[in-house]
Amino acid sequence: MAWEYAPAPESAALANLKPAYRPFVDGEFVDGGGEPLKTLNPATEEPLAEVGTASHEDVDRAVTAARRAYEQVWGPMPGAERAKYLFRIARVVAERARELAVLETLDNGKPIRESRDVDVPTASAHLFHHAGWADKLGYAGLGPDPKPVGVVGAVIPWNFPLLMAVWKIAPALACGNTIVLKPAETTPLTALVLAEIAADAGLPPGVLNVLPGAGDVGAAVVGHDGLDKVAFTGSTDVGKEIQRRLAGTGRRLTLELGGKAANIVYDDAPLDQAVDGVVDGIFFNQGHVCCAGSRLLLQESIEQEFMELLRARIETLRVGDPLDKNTDVGAINSRPQLDRIVDLAAAGDAEGAHRWTSSCPLPERGLFFPPTVFSGVEQTMRVAREEIFGPVLSVLMFRTPDEAIVKANNTPYGLSAGIWTEKGSKALWTAQRVRAGVVWTNTFNRFDPTAPFGGYRESGFGREGGQVGLEAYLNA
Ligand code: NDP
Repeated sequence: MAWEYAPAPESAALANLKPAYRPFVDGEFVDGGGEPLKTLNPATEEPLAEVGTASHEDVDRAVTAARRAYEQVWGPMPGAERAKYLFRIARVVAERARELAVLETLDNGKPIRESRDVDVPTASAHLFHHAGWADKLGYAGLGPDPKPVGVVGAVIPWNFPLLMAVWKIAPALACGNTIVLKPAETTPLTALVLAEIAADAGLPPGVLNVLPGAGDVGAAVVGHDGLDKVAFTGSTDVGKEIQRRLAGTGRRLTLELGGKAANIVYDDAPLDQAVDGVVDGIFFNQGHVCCAGSRLLLQESIEQEFMELLRARIETLRVGDPLDKNTDVGAINSRPQLDRIVDLAAAGDAEGAHRWTSSCPLPERGLFFPPTVFSGVEQTMRVAREEIFGPVLSVLMFRTPDEAIVKANNTPYGLSAGIWTEKGSKALWTAQRVRAGVVWTNTFNRFDPTAPFGGYRESGFGREGGQVGLEAYLNA
């Protein structure tokens, strides 16, 4: 390496961290009836703040408040008026972007470069996009005057805490629904600051409620009789449990679950570009991404050249302090998640795959896992089938395009895929055959509020974003 970068840490003080945070119910921060939890900084494993959690009575209170706000205020309000609140919230999220980015990085462990350049700007863009829809719902393709669904219960995971909150809140509110949101146990902070922003924007009480807590609070939210719709993002197992619970209730449901995406690289691909796309596809956000390109499908004729380029590129990734602006791969969000990654990687060794690990030094403390590549992977191996949700890439080979399609589709999931080729016709041919909700060509991990996102099969159903995403929150 020609030179070493000097550390360039963002100041943790920008997060305006408070010693304690509380649930947000009916327009106020309240003492939750649940046992308070301590949220940790995964880069140090030190506590960041104490967070009050919701009891089942708090869930009841929040749903009742959301029902009242829906019937009396938010549902009847003209879309143009609702839009003003959403535009205000979107503007303040943009204004407080630096604070939110640092807070997200502290609570989640993701590199500041990603929270600053992806999570927070995309969240703000999503709010602006849906604010624009609020008075134009007659053009959503659901008839001239579509109606809101009612009260929404939403449960979100820890990998994109602010962004996932906004993916649920923005369309729900734009369409005239009210919402009760449960953030993940390990990452509640930015959703609570978002609630503060909403309160400052004058959002009427009860329209948005945020209930921190563990999985039992999530279960109490999604199972509540007072809801009209549930929106869940998280693991396939919990998604299935929720689907069973809601079956026959008449309540609407969208599920955004796991993935095991194929990133297909043909031998005519622009190799340097493809290498960067593969690296971004799996190491972005430590691989804690439901649409991560966790299976590289590589055409056999370029195996040696591509793998050399790939390893050389991965060697340049910096793993370390998430607040350092030079860091590419940050901390793993929690100890249980790190254990899961370690176990699945060990299964790769045990089943005979060949493990290669970047030589980048890891910090002495905190939750870290080095960028790892398994080659010689067979389709039956656990590292090829299970969602590792960490910085671990599994490499499989193919000879012909038909074989690439068969292998890409040999998964219970169907969320995303990537295709790398210089031939447009080949890209289209492949995209038509890969069974995934989102297919990127010569790029990866592109998110835009105008583009619907979602999967099918065990990756769930329903779409978030774009005009299609509104359907989940409207009745024709
Ligand atoms: P979960 O599905 O358990 O968590 C997602 C959210 O659901 C969290 O807010 C969680 O609360 C909540 N929750 C947990 N149990 C229930 C329940 N019974 N009813 C309602 N809500 C519930 O995922 P994990 O965080 O445990 O991660 C496990 C694995 O899932 C990962 O390794 C990864 O493979 C996959 N995953 C996929 C995601 C995706 O975006 N597709 C996101 C997250 C995980 P709490 O935080 O308290 O557990």
